[in-house]
Amino acid sequence: MRGYSPKLQVSFDAYQVAPQGRILRTVDLRNVIAILPGRSPRRVYVSGHYDTVARAGGQGAANASGAPRDPDAPAPPPADPNAPLDNLAPGVNDDGSGTALTIELARVFSQSGIDFDATLVFMCHAGEEQGLVGARLHAQKAVAEKIPIEAVFNNDIVGNDKGGNGIVDGATIRVYAEGPEDSPSRELARFIQRWGGRYVPSHRVRPMARPDRFGRGGDHSAYNQLGFTAVGFRESRENFTRQHDVRDTFEGISLPYLTQNARVNAAAAATLALAPPPPVVVSERGQPMITRAPSGYDANLKWNASPGAVAYRIFWREAWGADWQHDLLVGNVTTAVLPNTQIDDFVFGVAAIDAGGHESFVTAYVSPARANTAIRTAGSQQ
Ligand SMILES: [Zn+2]
Repeated sequence: MRGYSPKLQVSFDAYQVAPQGRILRTVDLRNVIAILPGRSPRRVYVSGHYDTVARAGGQGAANASGAPRDPDAPAPPPADPNAPLDNLAPGVNDDGSGTALTIELARVFSQSGIDFDATLVFMCHAGEEQGLVGARLHAQKAVAEKIPIEAVFNNDIVGNDKGGNGIVDGATIRVYAEGPEDSPSRELARFIQRWGGRYVPSHRVRPMARPDRFGRGGDHSAYNQLGFTAVGFRESRENFTRQHDVRDTFEGISLPYLTQNARVNAAAAATLALAPPPPVVVSERGQPMITRAPSGYDANLKWNASPGAVAYRIFWREAWGADWQHDLLVGNVTTAVLPNTQIDDFVFGVAAIDAGGHESFVTAYVSPARANTAIRTAGSQQ
């Protein structure tokens, strides 16, 4: 990546990891990080993982066994710690595909000549198969050093379009996003669907309202668990017999399909990095700035101005629904009133737009969860 552009700052994001789980001795772990500085420090990540694993039977045998698995359970140590760890593990799809996509976008973005507002980060994680180790370490560092990560586009197993059951789908990609319903990660998935669809209409984004596939995990979850906005791209039809297996080779890859997935990532990441940051819609006390004023039956929305925004778009949908149904472009204002629109019946959100028309993802107005209040009964001691 150093050869792509002098603008790209390429280095190792290095750690020493103590023995734990499948890690049997102190090891040096190096994520590979390429930073394309923007006008602001807020960061948009595109990532994959460059480590891989192969074990007897691979993922196909693990799935067929029917054994349930907790993706957050610590990995068990190997039965024989002295067994040689040199079995053939090509890892072309898991996750050579996501790594290649990340490196290619580092090339395209750093050579584009485009001046982005956000700082773009192209990250090849290590140690994913040992428990998201490289991603967790970087996310921990981001918390400790207050690095403003706005979004993570994690790509893991995005290169194969032929399911192991014979079903072929080279025209769609899944994007997994943790809840709850209007979490920033869900808004990021809706954003990728909207802007991926705008620029790459031949490829359909399928948002998935869950953290990941059943019993499976990926690096985006390491960021989610520390409070960051992150989603996971996954091919639509997996071939499990080619995962975690010596058969994860180039024969199991469709380069046209991987290219389409790279285009969707590029369209959404570029739009997000060009746009202003998403508006803040809560007060300093964390309350959503939405009321029924002035009539008592209106939807009255307020938000804080986003740096660089020249207009805003408000969105709404019925409170029982996944996708935004209505939107309205409003000017360079920080309040909007929809008369006679009951705020109890709809979800509302707002996005910031720059002079070039680039839109942020939507920030939704969400009621904070309420704590339980215990009621004492007469005669009780407490
Ligand atoms: Zn993987």
